[in-house]
Formats: sequence, C-alpha cells, structure tokens
Amino acid sequence: MEVVGDRETNWKGYLNVDSFEDYCDEKLGISLKTGYSLISDYSKLLSEKPEYKSNKKLIPPPETKVRILGNKKLKALKKDSPDKCKEIKEMIFNPNYSRRETEAKLEEFHDNLIHDEKVIEEDIIEYDPLKEKVRQYWKGKEDAILGTIRENNQSKFSGLLNGLYDLGQKENSTRVESTEIKRIVITNTAKDSAYAEGVINRARKLNRKVEISHTGTGNNDTDILAFPSQLQGQENYWYMKETLYVRERKSSFIETFPSPGDIVENLNTALKLGFHCRSTCQYCYQQTSRGGTQEVFSNIKNVTDELKYERIVQTATLTVWSMISHLQKKIYVKIPRNLSETSNKFREKVVKSEISNDDSMMELLSKGSEGILSDCNVDFTKIELKKLLPNIPKFYKKNKKVPLWLWVSEYSDILAIEPIAKQMEFILSELLLKFPEVNFMVATKSVDECFLEHDGQDRIMLNMNLSPEEVINKYEPGTSPLDKRLDLVKRLQNKGGYILRLSFEPMIYFEGWEEAYKSLVETVSKSIDLASIPAIVLGSIRLRSGLKNRIIRNYPWTDLFADESVLVKATKEDKRGRYTEEIRIAQYQLMIDELKKHTKAEIILGAEYPEMWDWVGLDKEKFMSDKVYQYEQ
Ligand code: SF4
Repeated sequence: MEVVGDRETNWKGYLNVDSFEDYCDEKLGISLKTGYSLISDYSKLLSEKPEYKSNKKLIPPPETKVRILGNKKLKALKKDSPDKCKEIKEMIFNPNYSRRETEAKLEEFHDNLIHDEKVIEEDIIEYDPLKEKVRQYWKGKEDAILGTIRENNQSKFSGLLNGLYDLGQKENSTRVESTEIKRIVITNTAKDSAYAEGVINRARKLNRKVEISHTGTGNNDTDILAFPSQLQGQENYWYMKETLYVRERKSSFIETFPSPGDIVENLNTALKLGFHCRSTCQYCYQQTSRGGTQEVFSNIKNVTDELKYERIVQTATLTVWSMISHLQKKIYVKIPRNLSETSNKFREKVVKSEISNDDSMMELLSKGSEGILSDCNVDFTKIELKKLLPNIPKFYKKNKKVPLWLWVSEYSDILAIEPIAKQMEFILSELLLKFPEVNFMVATKSVDECFLEHDGQDRIMLNMNLSPEEVINKYEPGTSPLDKRLDLVKRLQNKGGYILRLSFEPMIYFEGWEEAYKSLVETVSKSIDLASIPAIVLGSIRLRSGLKNRIIRNYPWTDLFADESVLVKATKEDKRGRYTEEIRIAQYQLMIDELKKHTKAEIILGAEYPEMWDWVGLDKEKFMSDKVYQYEQ
C-alpha cells in the first residue's frame, strides 16, 4: 500500500487491479474493511516491535491477538496502570498465552480499574436537568417540526434531528424496553443515609455513567418525586423503569394485603421493601399502581422495629378470623372482609404500645372483641359473642402454630435490583438471624447469587417463576432467561437450606401454547429435581381495572389482546379481567397433567376463584387447612 500509493494507474501497473478494494477482493479474497484492519494491525505490531520488519525469522503473534494492542481498555490501562498494560503487551507477544486468556486478563485489569472508587470519584457524572429537558423535548417531535419547515431545508433539519436523537440514544434518553437503571435519585429524606451512599456506589460499579441527582422536599416534609414535566404518557413509564428513587419510608413496612376479588388466598402479609422493578413484563399489574416511582427505602433497617411484633399481630389477626368463622359457622377461603384493615390497625397499636406478649394480646382481643367484629362488619348477637369469648385462648393457641411468612415480592421483584439495592442480602444476613420466628417468601423472575452465599435455614422460600422461552422473550424483557432461572434452582437444590417452589404464572394464551407449556415442563423436569419441589403455583393473566389500557399505552406493539374473544371482562365480584373459564381450565389441566408425570408436589392456583379449584380437581379446603384455625362442621 505504501509503495503503490492511491493512484489508480499505480494499482493497475503494479498489481493489475484498479484499487486497494479490488486488490482485497480479487487477490486476497477479503473485504475492504478486513484489508484496512490488517494494515492497521501491522502498523501497531511494528510500532511495538520494529524488529519484526527486519528479522524474517521472528514469527509475529496472530493478527487477532495483535488487534488487542488497539483495544480501548488497553489504552485506559496504559494511562492509569502502566505496569498492567505492560503485562498485557507481554502476553500478546508470548505464544504461551492464547488470545482469550489475554483478553480475559485485560478485562480483569480493566474492571479493577473502573471499580476503583478513587477513579470513579473523579469521574462523577451528575444528573443535568437541562440536558434531560433538551433530550426529552426533542423526543417524538421530529414529524411535527418537519411539517413546518420549507422543503429545501427539510433534509438538513432532519439530519440535525437525527444527530441529536442519536446523541440522546447513546446517553441516557428514555428508551423503550430499556431495563437498566440509568438514574439514581436521592430524595431529601434519604440524602445523608449510609444506605443511599451504598446504592450510589454499587450502581456506579455496575454502570459508571449512572446519573445521580438529588431532589428537595415538598409540602408536609414529603419527598419530591416528580418526573421531568415534558414527559408524556408512556414516556413516564419508561423513565420510571430506568430511574431508581431512594427515599425514607414514612409508613409501616409491613402490611396485611388482601388481593382483590372473590378468590382463594391465605393471610397475605407483605414486607414492602420497594416498588416496581427494572424488568419490563408487559402484563405487570404494577402499571396501574398509585406509586409511579421505582423506589427503595433508606431506612430499611427500621424493619427490625416492626418485625419484633409481627408474630403477635399475625396470631391476633388469625384469631379474629377464627372468631368470625365460628360465629358465622363457615370456612373462609380468603381473609374475611375488612379483617385486613383491622389487622393493620392491630399492627399500629401493637407497635405503638409495644405489646410483645401473648397474654396482653389475648386480653386486648377479649376486651375489644365487640368493636373488632363490628369493624369487620360481622353479624352477631351479644349471646353468641358471650359464648365465643372463652374460646379466644384456644383459637389463639391454635393460630400461634401457623408459621409467619412475610411476602417480600408483592410490589417489586426485589432480585431484579438486588445488585444495587441489596435488600435480599439484608434479609439473609440480618433479619434471618435476628428473628428466628419469621420466614420470608420471595417470588422472582431474576437470578442473583446472594442465596448461594448464605444459609437459608429452610426459612426462605424462593418461588421461581417460569415461563416458556418464547413468553420470556416476548413478554418479560429484562428478566433472566429460563435456563438461568432453572440453574439457580438446581444449584440451590444441591446446596440445601431453601424451600424451593415453582410458579407458572401468568400462563399466556397464544397459538401453540399447549406445545410450549408441555415442552416447558419437560425442560424443567430435565433441569432440576422436580420430584423434590414441595409446591407449584399455577396462575392465569389477571387484568385489574385500567390495566389493559395501561399495557396498550406502555407497550403499543403488544399482541396480548390480539384475540379479544379469549378474554372476559372483570365482574363486580371478581374485579379482574381474565381469559375465559374454558381457556383457564384447559391451561391448568394441561399443566396439572404434565406436572403429575414428574412430581407429587402440592399444586395451588394463584388468585383464582373457589369454583376453579373444584373444576380442575384441586382441594382448596386442604390448602387452607393449615393456614388458619376455622369452624369445623
Ligand atoms: S418482574 Fe414482577 S415486578 Fe418486575 S416487571 Fe415483571 S411482573 Fe412486574
């Protein structure tokens, strides 16, 4: 190339081709791009070791290895860690090291370099509201603006907008289906907390370009959580998915939570450690929740103050359930109406008055029984109540045997942001040890190694959610692939110390669903020890009021509702749109039949109404029998 130069006549004269491109193509059989990179790599080789030019006996390293000399990471290393850079260069020229080994070493050195706090500190990328405003302003406005520009200027303007848009895409613009945390917003209430500092450090280690911003305080000492005002509709949703707020939680972390509708469900106590998650499941019910921000709480340690009393709160709540069941002479397959509110009132009272012994609680129940039952809208006569009161200690004792399980994934998949938020780590390393009577249930579609580093003491229930690969790819972007989810279950089965449940929900209806779910069960049975799984949950898609519209707004390309005939609208009692009963029965029945080929696990329906259990041959009374002491006929 040096000798030939770039004149066409020279190429013709020396090499009988018209150009370097033709030379690559006709004489070497390589593309022009490869030709140029060979030249570039050759010059890198010579600049590093000029002796290769004169000493014909020296055999240079393969070109793919020489290419490492131009790697940006090596350049960064040269600047910040010359010794390490030298080591990599020696590996490049040492035939005993392969390209892979050399690249792996470079990665390792580079990771250490960018994870060095000092280096990061110097390179803080702060959230710039002006930049964000400009970025959001241009989004989606191209067409409207182009319509107002003279034709001969349109292509120039279009180019400018494309340039700006590309710039925005490369940085932290709101991008559809992004599942990365790109911004951490520290609210005023969390600004001095060690937890917020930990979140920032961990987020930066994962993405050194993560933006950090701080917000002020609004009226009544509330945090300002507002998104940029120019965001519209679905942009807010995608902005939320990329933004993690750290704030102080003002209300209780624990809540008794009844799912809506007339369904089968045992007492559900949620430990609220956060809201939303970075994954983007199209069907996620959180899209309609009141809290529009993805958040974690800086005062997470305060959970310990509440946990001290939760066993008493649960026993008291179940005792009231028993009282209602006996007064009404009826078995309830879901928490009786209004009891959840009463339970939340108990919690407040118990924590405030620091009631920590059973006798005081029983006394409170006996003395306040009339008011408590009236609050729950229970019909009873004074005579009936008088007869019931002596049974309270018995009810209490029976219910005290019901294990306390706290549900930590009602409002968020906490494992999805575990590397940043470390909430599960807190449960495993602190709560589990401090509160031997408390057990924790986690449902997830994400994989994290934290469980492998701790002993779950058989007090952590991991509910691994499974779907066919095509469902994961299409409807659950950002979650872990199926093989990774199964691999974690397998590793935990080998490790022991965890209660491992599987959950297939929501089952999605699409063409070919039968084969997809059959093959899923087959894959599961080959990947893990299915026979030793104690319980499996099956559930269908559930559309609470407004969710369908939200899904269509946030995921306009969704085909979840392509066939309207498979869906039925929410009824007053059920409060959820669902697939038709025929489809749900077919889905559950198929799964039950397939699963029974491999396991005797208890099969449970998630948020289904009682008749559905009967139709598919599942025993709801058996399921409820050890969840609360109830009236026996
Ligand atoms: S993983 Fe759970 S919380 Fe997160 S988006 Fe999916 S359904 Fe919602």
